[in-house]
Amino acid sequence: SAKSAGRGTFSFFNQQLREDAERHIQLHSEMKLGLDLQQFHLVYQPIIHPKTGTVSKCEALLRWQHPERGLISPATFIPVAERTGLINRIGDWVLEQVCEDLTTLADDRLVISINRSEREFTHQKDGNHWLSILLRHSIAPKRIVFEITESLFMTDKDKQKSLILSMREAGIRFAIDDFGTGYSSLNYLQHYPVDFLKVDRSFLEQIPENTQQTALIDAMLRVAHALGIETVAEGVERKEQYQRLVELGADYVQGFYLAKPMRLAALTEFLRSHRE
Ligand code: C2E
Ligand code: MG
Ligand code: MG
Ligand code: MG
Repeated sequence: SAKSAGRGTFSFFNQQLREDAERHIQLHSEMKLGLDLQQFHLVYQPIIHPKTGTVSKCEALLRWQHPERGLISPATFIPVAERTGLINRIGDWVLEQVCEDLTTLADDRLVISINRSEREFTHQKDGNHWLSILLRHSIAPKRIVFEITESLFMTDKDKQKSLILSMREAGIRFAIDDFGTGYSSLNYLQHYPVDFLKVDRSFLEQIPENTQQTALIDAMLRVAHALGIETVAEGVERKEQYQRLVELGADYVQGFYLAKPMRLAALTEFLRSHRE
């Protein structure tokens, strides 16, 4: 009967929820242990400035080498860390590691872009915690970009804005990541206190073949530029895509076509061979 089917469905979801919760608890304790046992590392993906052909920035991306499960994607463990709050410890580890890596690089102008979750922002009282980490490592704030997403402005907008403004005043720059995937409207852009806009990969997958998509990107880039915001096209995988995006005025380009994320040693080599 419908009634028993309903009951069956209910217990199925119940069980599903319980399994999810158990998986999260398991993953949480393994991540905590993983931090202590140094199972995490960073890879860096070069961001190209086509006008000069130089690598002026890199994005730091977190990797977890699990002893039994192998390499686990941040798409799997970051959402769990966000839920349990462990993202705050992880985020501090990432910033510390970036600082250490920056001090070993020969190029003292290279800028590193770091992802920051909404949960990490809501955890801050003011901008001083992250600034003090930079200060302790003698890293100039202008060498750091924090990547945030539009969802950050959906709750407690004024608090988030003043937090960003205080860090920007100190010299840290900000980028809106995955732009276009949230509840975005080009209209919001004027209210975001950011320096860079990273157009999400999904918006440029079919460039240049798709003329509508090309028109949309063209408009996004124009609006950003009119507001004094520099643009980054992310997830560029093909030559024709790259060429068209540069023609359309993308200030920076990032993607497998140009370089994949790599360990620090490989990055050092990459930077050396790409210096004029
Ligand atoms: P994201 O910030 O949008 O980072 C870009 C993602 O696109 C990375 O995936 C990168 O490897 C991938 N990518 C770059 N170029 C291409 C391309 O040409 N084609 C395709 N298909 N993909 C490309 P990754 O490293 O798996 O990271 C996934 C997400 O995890 C990131 O998306 C970011 O939101 C989050 N994440 C990574 N590291 C951290 C971190 O340290 N802290 C926080 N809070 N989140 C992080
Ligand atoms: Mg990012
Ligand atoms: Mg991101
Ligand atoms: Mg992104």
